[in-house]
Amino acid sequence: MANSNGFHLSNLQYWRELKILAERASRDVLSGLLNRETATGYIEQCLRHMHEGEACALFIIDLDNFKQVNDTLGHLAGDQVIRLAARALSGCFRTTDIVGRLGGDEFFALLSGSISEEAAREKARAICEALQFSIGVNPTLHVSASVGVYIATGETREFEKLYERADAALYEAKAEGRNRYRISAGQRAAESRPDAASVPYTPVQLRALLEHMEEGVALVEVGETLNVVYASPSLFRMVGADEARVSLPCPLPVFSCIHPDDAAEYERRLRDALAGGKALEHGHRFSRGGAWHWCRVRAIRTPRVRGQERAARAREGHFRRAQERGFAS
Ligand code: GH3
Ligand code: MG
Repeated sequence: MANSNGFHLSNLQYWRELKILAERASRDVLSGLLNRETATGYIEQCLRHMHEGEACALFIIDLDNFKQVNDTLGHLAGDQVIRLAARALSGCFRTTDIVGRLGGDEFFALLSGSISEEAAREKARAICEALQFSIGVNPTLHVSASVGVYIATGETREFEKLYERADAALYEAKAEGRNRYRISAGQRAAESRPDAASVPYTPVQLRALLEHMEEGVALVEVGETLNVVYASPSLFRMVGADEARVSLPCPLPVFSCIHPDDAAEYERRLRDALAGGKALEHGHRFSRGGAWHWCRVRAIRTPRVRGQERAARAREGHFRRAQERGFAS
């Protein structure tokens, strides 16, 4: 394999370059957010995996009177506003949420798993607050945004339908004076599970996002014990384990022996960072064939929800089976 300069690339370099290209192709150049096509694909995937009784919320965000920025301060200032708005919007969501640019001054985002109307309202309020800033000197323009939200339960899994309804809510917010949000909901939204903070981000929903990240990604659930609930195929390859033979979720040690110097620090950092409800990326060393290697772990907290006791018991079973196969110590 040769690159454009005629140099031969190793397999690893080749895959890295491909990965960088794929990552670039999934992004909107100006805002750095996911582009419309990629974000829509992820959202459609989430909708397909939605369980009975779960709800998700599609947010459409459109800047107010943005044409005025372009007309008064010029296109470059307009571009800067789009960048600032994208950054502020990203800050309102977790790294694992899907946030993209639809085009122009319009953005969209999906909260999935299970979300209540109150949680969606809180998020929309936070977005309106975060997207308030000033640009330019003499004149100084004030930027704000309007938000339309549609909360979908199992009744519709088509992105287009969600989009239409969130867009209608956005239209209402604009018509009522801008710088505000409007929410509409599917029939069963009021009955959906209420606590947004306890939304479990399931490995299935995250799989596509995680696969886009660097090699060696695992999703670790922090409860009484640290459990690996998802591991990318590349992580299995890195640690030399057979994906088909490891049942997930399984306790962390199944993959490796963390370097003794790092073990206590590793666990402390995971627990501390995740206590704040944030996703965390962390590198650690593991032992294979007598040598130490580096591995990247991505972790997110999944608080205890109904039915988890059963899951915990099942996990113990997984661990026992893993031990029998020699994967865990
Ligand atoms: P409203 O409050 O009704 O949304 O009014 P608005 O002025 O924001 O109207 P609208 O959302 O329709 O305007 C979007 C404008 O964004 C139109 C277009 O000229 C401008 N635009 C689209 N893409 C870009 C871009 O990449 N950079 C800049 N600077 N402007 C863009
Ligand atoms: Mg606009």
